[in-house]
Formats: sequence, structure tokens, C-alpha cells
Amino acid sequence: MTRTALYPGSFDPITNGHIDILRQALGLADRVVVAIGIHPGKTPMFSLEARSAMIAEVASDAFGAAADRISVIGFDNLVVDAARGQGATVLIRGLRDGTDLDYEMQMAGTNGAIAPDVQTVFLPASPGVRHIAATLVRQIAAMGGDVAPFVPAQVACELGRRTNPSG
Ligand code: ADP
Repeated sequence: MTRTALYPGSFDPITNGHIDILRQALGLADRVVVAIGIHPGKTPMFSLEARSAMIAEVASDAFGAAADRISVIGFDNLVVDAARGQGATVLIRGLRDGTDLDYEMQMAGTNGAIAPDVQTVFLPASPGVRHIAATLVRQIAAMGGDVAPFVPAQVACELGRRTNPSG
């Protein structure tokens, strides 16, 4: 039986931290669906299409043939419904610190109560990437800082284009 995991998030944009979690998830599941949450009322820096394209490109570079086991979707419904829609029985979440843990415990408990058939699995951030957050990356880029330590080269390039279109 194929085990499918859903990895939900904003991925605005994908960072080295997300890639670390994706790598771990590929070791646990046959198929990993990266699910980009669409929140009405929230304006992302990158469109759904741009985020999907960056994830596909970066996954292919990082994982080679194993990237064939990754797919990317957008979703605007409950995360457990998105998981069921993909035939996923596992929900992947990354943990960076105690703040993530407090929030994620609440989400895992809520999702588990709604959908006992979908199991949340927490994966610990590797030491080299546990400080990375997409929000900070966007802020650094907006202020003209170097984001190269936090995101793949293609993403750094897109951030540069987005925040300094004339540059
Ligand atoms: P962020 O919190 O950086 O805006 P997302 O909302 O896209 O990112 O997060 C999606 C998932 O990826 C969450 O489970 C989050 O904890 C995890 N994640 C994000 N950054 C990292 C990181 N540096 N290390 C481990 N997990 C991470």
C-alpha cells in the first residue's frame, strides 16, 4: 500500500528549513504532497503558481529522481479534508522550537479530534536550519539583505526580483 503524507504550510517562499523537513518526510512516506494553504484576506508575497513552481524546481534540484514522489497542490479547505482528498494518512509538521510545539500540539489535537484517521507526525528541524522562518526571510529581502543562507539560489533570485524589480 502506498503511504501518502501531506505537508501543509504557506511556503511563501520555500526555505532551506522546508527542504529539510521534506527530505525527512520522503524517508517516511512513498508520496509527499506539499499543500500550499490559500487564506482569503491574507496577501502572500508570491502567488500560488509562483510558489508551486519554486517548490517543484527546488525539489528536483535537491532530491533528483526522488522528487517524482513529491507533488504540489493548493488548498483552501480544512487541512484534514485536503489530506483525505489526497488519500494521505499522515500530516507532516516541522518543529523548530517550543513556540512551534505549543501551537502544533493544539493543531494536532484539533485535527486528531476531527479526523482520527489522519496521523500528525512532528519532524524536528535539523540544527543548521532551525532558525529559518519564511516571514523573516521576506523581511530581510524587503530590506535589501542577503537571503542566500536561508533559501535555495533560485528562491533568492526570485526574492531579489520581487523586492527590487529595477535591480
Ligand atoms: P513559516 O512558519 O516559516 O512561515 P510555513 O507556514 O510555510 O513556514 O510552515 C510550514 C511547516 O514547515 C510548519 O510545520 C513549520 O513548522 C515548518 N517549518 C518552517 N520552517 C521550518 C524550519 N526552518 N525548520 C523546520 N520546520 C520548518
